[in-house]
Parts: sequence; structure tokens; C-alpha cells
Amino acid sequence: MNFFNTHTHIFNVPCVPDAFITNYRFPQWLSKIIRAAVNKKWLRKIVLGIVKNVPSFLGGTHIRRYAALVEVAIHKYQDQVFETLISHYPAHARFVILTMNFDFMTGDAPEGNYNHYETQLHEVLEVKRKYGERILPFLFIDPRMGEEACMRQLHFYFDPAQNRGMAGIKLYPSLGYYPFHPALERVYAFAEEHAIPIITHSNKGGGAYFAGRFNQRIMSYNSFNPTKETSDFLNKVLNPFPDFKDPRDYANIMMHPMTYYDVLQKFPKLKICLAHYGGHEEILDQDNPKNTYNWTRTIKDLMRQFTNVYTDVSFMLVNDKASKRVLTDMSDNTLNKKILFGTDFFMTTPYDTDKRLTENFFRILAAHEQALTVQNPTAFLTSRIFKP
Ligand SMILES: [Zn+2]
Repeated sequence: MNFFNTHTHIFNVPCVPDAFITNYRFPQWLSKIIRAAVNKKWLRKIVLGIVKNVPSFLGGTHIRRYAALVEVAIHKYQDQVFETLISHYPAHARFVILTMNFDFMTGDAPEGNYNHYETQLHEVLEVKRKYGERILPFLFIDPRMGEEACMRQLHFYFDPAQNRGMAGIKLYPSLGYYPFHPALERVYAFAEEHAIPIITHSNKGGGAYFAGRFNQRIMSYNSFNPTKETSDFLNKVLNPFPDFKDPRDYANIMMHPMTYYDVLQKFPKLKICLAHYGGHEEILDQDNPKNTYNWTRTIKDLMRQFTNVYTDVSFMLVNDKASKRVLTDMSDNTLNKKILFGTDFFMTTPYDTDKRLTENFFRILAAHEQALTVQNPTAFLTSRIFKP
């Protein structure tokens, strides 16, 4: 018997730039000592003590919420993070590990003080060697690596002649590009041809591109396949462009599910999971007619229009009301085959442990546990390169 959690992360503090930590609205001084504590056991205890007890006048109310997240991320090695993850599950559970490339998060060249993507990936493959079938790594592709580099990576890691243990592709457009970036056209063609699953981040928030000052150039509409749906959307939302202040405002446009019409009308068989169901706020607002481009409604439209569009319940499962809406969708004969179970460990640790989140979710969706954790993930993960 299998059990798949199709959405987890094990990258740790050494894998992320300062921009990612301050993205969580942590002050610079705290980011610095968190990073320093990774290599010193005695300092780690002190830092965790600080994070759990920062007084409110130093931003403590916000920081204290993230104590459990820092406790996981501060591990020196990614396999220690993986150990923490699996401690919440039975021995037969298997995990999609989404690697993350933060090297272009702040512009064309990566910051200097963290392990760049190559090192992170190397370490994840070490974890894979140690834990075998229990770990299903996804390769991160960023179009700013350049089209040739993207294709070289794909041909290497998804070589039909030699299994390198890679199960799929991860995209994260809010780090600074649109899903219809011209350098991704051949990536999608390759993925579609081999039925390789793609998971892309699809709820508001999370990591956002920020180079100190927003670069307007990256917001211009330059698509490998402009469609009416996507261009109507962009025309509307890019209109108030100069008024945006927060980098997350831009990020929410770059990764909006409406931008996938350009991709899917060209590659209608593409197997792609628009993760997080659009987020629990959008799930709960999906019947509001004033919310014109509701994320959840858009994702569900795409799932109906294109055979291999999926979503997952990761992160949104922290909200019981949203989970009850998922229960309603499970009685829909199209949607119920394309919803995947995932948690988004360890982004969810400020809410609860994976063990309790999973138990709580399946109290609501008990009747659909098989479909969500076995049948649907098996269909999603099966490619010409990899059989789960
Ligand atoms: Zn995630």
C-alpha cells in the first residue's frame, strides 16, 4: 500500500538567501544570527530561545509565530529536515520533495552568502541515495538559467536510458518570471512529450522576486503563445502598474493561474499541478462574483478544460472551512481525479505539525483518502521516465 504526500520541502537555512528570510518579514539582525547558528549547536539553542520569546516591541508577535518553522529550517543538513518530516508519517509514506532555486530571486546574479541551487540539488540527491523510494525529488527549472541550460538539465535528469531518480519539474514564477516566458517553451514541449509532471506554486504570497527596487522590464508581456484569456487578464491588472508598492503585488500577477492559458493552449496535454488550490482565502471567496479573477475558480476552469491540469491541497489544509469546500469538489467527476494530497511541510509548521494537519484533514475527507493519497498521485507521477 502506498501513501503519497506530493508537496513538501526540505531546503534549510543554508540554502536560502537573506532575501528569502526577510521575505518573511524577519529583521536583518535576526536573519544574520539565524544563519550563524546553523553551524553552532550552542548558539542554535540561544537563537531558538530568542525567536520563541522576542518581546512584542521588537516585532515579537510576528516572529514568535514562526518559531517552529525556524526550528526545522535551522538544521545543518537537509537530511535532518527530511528525518523531521518522515517522523510524522508511517514508514510506507513517500514524499515529493520540491527543490527551490533562489539564485535569481534578487536579480541576475545570486547573493553570495548561501548555498546556491547546485549545492542544494546535490544534497537532495544524497538524501535520495540514502532513503531511496521514499523520496521523489522535483528538479527546479528557472527560465533565467537560459533555454540551453534548462534543456541540458532536463536531458540529463530525465534521460529515458538512465534513471537518475528525478520524478518531476518544479516552477515558481513569483520569483520573477511569467509561466509563458519564451525560454520555457521547449521545457513544456519536453515535459508534455514524456508526461513529466510539473508542480507550480499557485497561491498568493510565498517567495517573491525582489531586487531592492522592482524591475519593470520583467512585467512586460512577452509570451511564446499570446492568448486572449491571458492578455485580457494582464491588460486589466497591469493597468494600475506604477501604484504597486509591495513586491508581492507583482508576484501575485506573475504566478496568477490566468497566465497559464498561454501555456496550456499550446500544450493542452501538459501535466501540471497548480498547487495550493489558489489558497484558502480564494477558496472561501470563489462564489463572489465581484472577485473577477478568483484564483480557485480559475484553477478549476483550467482543470475542466485541460485533461492533465491538477491541483493540490497543500497549505490550504490549515483551514477547515476550505477543506470542506474540497470535500464538495470531490463529488465532481472531473475534479475528483485531479486533486492531490500534499501538506507543504515545513511552511505549515506555524499552524501545526504534519501529523496533526494530516489527521485533521482526513477527518473531513475520510471517504476520499485513497483517491487523494494513492490513485490521483500515482496517475500524476507516472511518466515515461518514472513509475511510482
Ligand atoms: Zn510549497
